[in-house]
Amino acid sequence: MNKEKQRGLSTTAIHAGYHCDPLTGALATPIYQTSTFVFSSTEEGARRFAGEEAGYIYSRLGNPTVTVLEEKMAALEKAEAGLAFASGMAAVSAILLALVKTGDHILGTKGLYGCTYGLLNLLQDRFQVSYSLCDMTDEASIRQMLQPTTRVIYVETPINPTMELVDLQLVAKIAREIGAAVVVDNTFMSPYLQRPIEHGADIVIHSATKFIGGHGDVIAGVAVGPKAIMDSIRLTTQKDIGGILAPFDAYLLIRGLKTLGVRMDRHCENGMQVARFLHSHPKVAAVYYPGLPDFPQYDLACRQMDGFGGLLAFELKGGMEAGIRMMNNVHLCKRAVSLGDVDSLIQHPASMTHSVVPAEERAKMGITDGLVRLSVGIEDIADILEDLDTALSFA
Ligand code: PLP
Repeated sequence: MNKEKQRGLSTTAIHAGYHCDPLTGALATPIYQTSTFVFSSTEEGARRFAGEEAGYIYSRLGNPTVTVLEEKMAALEKAEAGLAFASGMAAVSAILLALVKTGDHILGTKGLYGCTYGLLNLLQDRFQVSYSLCDMTDEASIRQMLQPTTRVIYVETPINPTMELVDLQLVAKIAREIGAAVVVDNTFMSPYLQRPIEHGADIVIHSATKFIGGHGDVIAGVAVGPKAIMDSIRLTTQKDIGGILAPFDAYLLIRGLKTLGVRMDRHCENGMQVARFLHSHPKVAAVYYPGLPDFPQYDLACRQMDGFGGLLAFELKGGMEAGIRMMNNVHLCKRAVSLGDVDSLIQHPASMTHSVVPAEERAKMGITDGLVRLSVGIEDIADILEDLDTALSFA
């Protein structure tokens, strides 16, 4: 575990981006619930529009509450700048649309989040941006799938929901050789457990709906990366498509981030205990959790991540039928998609998050019909284990 890199992240999550409001001394970030900003003179307005003077113009172009969140996320991910969006998918689409044009090719990890897969299909069908999905666990298969027009290598690691990992340093090395950008969806880990830019990635995306907010009460997205790229996206695919974050939602995320460190520590502790419990349960055929020493990429997990997180997937010996019976008998764990909340959430990828992916593609991604995904929350571990144990007796 790379403990050294973890030092200071909780402090950053609490303090970065905001200094007490000098007018009022407000400790909590004020919610600037305003659509527009008044200029002190026509000349001042003109200077702001010309980019000659810093300052707010209109909340689709920037808002002081949202700025605090953007700076916090950039500091946590060790990036130069950040942008906040109305959803994780607004972030994914604004970034991809800014990086590619007709004729380009995107190489993505097999097993991408279902709506990201949907977006790649839309880009291909409507805008002739082609894509391929590839098993990024070994170098040869990545190199084999590259095309002269590959502009973006798009990575999820761990991959949802199989938990397979991608070696970020390897991908960054290959991308540099061909001049492609590496975009990493870091939703599953949060910057507390994994910072892809430290491993050579260019842009990091989050569905901030998940661990960043942490409480299941907001839909949001964030992207961080080099300032020049973020500045240009702010003025193009963010401004003109308009998937911006509301100030109140930014406030909820700033509030959520203040407890990121303690929440993630507890997600990791609980995740490990649930993984061990399932691993030794007679009705469970397989558990996919990077923290189990028999996980095929355990060494990579230790090298690349500062903790193993709260996400895991498992298969029951009785297949899909057993999975359905088990899921119908949980009480504490909630049958719901999404992840990274303080509440434990359980879902069935083949019929839920990945139902838009054709069955044969799902099979290639390793998403069997019997796979169940669990986002382990921060409840008392004894209660989570008791709930799972009871539900498994129905499997
Ligand atoms: N990326 C991953 C890995 C996700 O799991 C999700 C949503 O579940 C998204 C992106 C999309 O995020 P949002 O639902 O905030 O648009």
